[in-house]
Amino acid sequence: MKIIAVGRNYAEHAKELNNPVPSKPVIFMKPDTAILLNNAPFYHPSFTTDIHHEIEVVLKICKEGKHIAEKFAHTYFDEIGLGIDFTARDIQQQHKEKGLPWELAKSFDHSAPVSKFIPKANLVDLENLSFHLDLNGQMVQTGNTRDLLFSFDRIIAFVSQYITLRKGDLLFTGTPEGVGKVNIGDHLEGYLGEEKLLDFHIK
Ligand code: MG
Repeated sequence: MKIIAVGRNYAEHAKELNNPVPSKPVIFMKPDTAILLNNAPFYHPSFTTDIHHEIEVVLKICKEGKHIAEKFAHTYFDEIGLGIDFTARDIQQQHKEKGLPWELAKSFDHSAPVSKFIPKANLVDLENLSFHLDLNGQMVQTGNTRDLLFSFDRIIAFVSQYITLRKGDLLFTGTPEGVGKVNIGDHLEGYLGEEKLLDFHIK
């Protein structure tokens, strides 16, 4: 499986990092070695001193598709969860300045903690899903999918023009504003609506 992620999909987050609001989805990937499951602790790597949390709604792809039409895109995912797109912001900044790819900043081991998944059918309105991240008991990021620049369906249609989606692939749909540094000893809790799905520590 693979993880496909969208950057800058909430306007206020693009602005907080002084990035332009994109006219097309900004896409990058993480390998399967990035996944961290079951609320296992995240061990802070030594190659960075500035890892940021980015809480994101994650879609689980349920069948293979290529060149998916936007109107059928909703049939290609059946479960929704939460993930953290951990980002070594110091490395990313250096690479952005040089126009280099982001993999070392975004795709390192365990850079993608992922929660359990909830059947899409259990959620009332996918275009009005609220979610938030608490850091040491303080809410630091809050978002709602109504503020997505590119909808779930649009992302799937766009990505599948280039990359075949397969059952089990995960799609990280972008983070709202409020990203910030995590430190050893921190406690992260992620909520989809009122339900806590992520609950783990930085070690
Ligand atoms: Mg992100």
